[in-house]
Amino acid sequence: MTLEIPSKALANGVTIPYLGLGVYKMTDRDVAIQAMRKALEFGYRAIDTAALYHNETEVGEAISSSGIAREDIFVTTKVWNTDQGYDETLRAFETSLKKLGLDYIDLYLTHWPVEDKFVETYRAIERLYEEKLIRVTGVSNHHIHHLEKIFAKANVQPMVNQVELHPYLTQEALREFCNSNNIAVTAWSPLGRGGILQDEIILQIAKEVQRTPAQVILRWHYQQDIISIPKSVTPSRIEENAQIFDFELSSQQMMQLSQLNRDQRFGQNPDNFKFDF
Ligand code: NAD
Repeated sequence: MTLEIPSKALANGVTIPYLGLGVYKMTDRDVAIQAMRKALEFGYRAIDTAALYHNETEVGEAISSSGIAREDIFVTTKVWNTDQGYDETLRAFETSLKKLGLDYIDLYLTHWPVEDKFVETYRAIERLYEEKLIRVTGVSNHHIHHLEKIFAKANVQPMVNQVELHPYLTQEALREFCNSNNIAVTAWSPLGRGGILQDEIILQIAKEVQRTPAQVILRWHYQQDIISIPKSVTPSRIEENAQIFDFELSSQQMMQLSQLNRDQRFGQNPDNFKFDF
């Protein structure tokens, strides 16, 4: 039996599953395909990749060999920083499409707001949307000031902003801004790269609800209307991370988790992104 993962309606009515598989650092071909196949078999219907992850080909293979209809799977990919600008983004999109072996992508994102380029990058994403090559427009790692610059030029506002978000980095102001502009928020590193799973409060709540720390955190995201894309290649964890739709956290537990915020990033701050990998 496959699990039913609920979906969220975006600004244009297209729906995105609340939970998808993140595939960053899945560079070993067999491991990557196996993890994605496992996730799809279990009921995942969304995969989050990027040109940077060097596994778009594997994503395409996992999808085409899954036996699941293309239109039932929500595929996200992203234009990398060195490919930004209007024409460059259109070209990068073509490359991603080819590698994925698809004829459209569900959601295409600006990976990081490269200064002096991200507005033009988004204009190209708008064009891809107008040409129906993507179903949803979006950005990633955009602060409020980046979004405001885009709003000034865009005909179609971004429908998704994918940002680092977890109990140690709750991003209240950005989320409120996105909410009031009908931009859905996706949490990357929703588990804080695994670095918050030993937190005492999280462990205590996990005990109270008889779930794992990862499930508690992912449920906390879901109850706040946040889409999340945890990464794992371990079959048991891939299953565990999706089993969050059959229990509830109390408002007290939700508050305790939100109060863990310490504005701590495990990744980079979009305002001073550095290539260090
Ligand atoms: P994550 O929060 O998903 O944590 C992944 C780590 O947690 C891995 O080490 C994994 O082994 C461990 N883990 C996963 N499930 C677990 C479980 N049930 N129990 C114990 N440990 C578990 O962090 P991430 O990989 O950085 O982020 C997830 C996805 O977000 C990425 O794969 C990628 O798709 C996306 N992402 C996007 C950006 C961006 O700039 N847009 C940046 C980073 C990541």
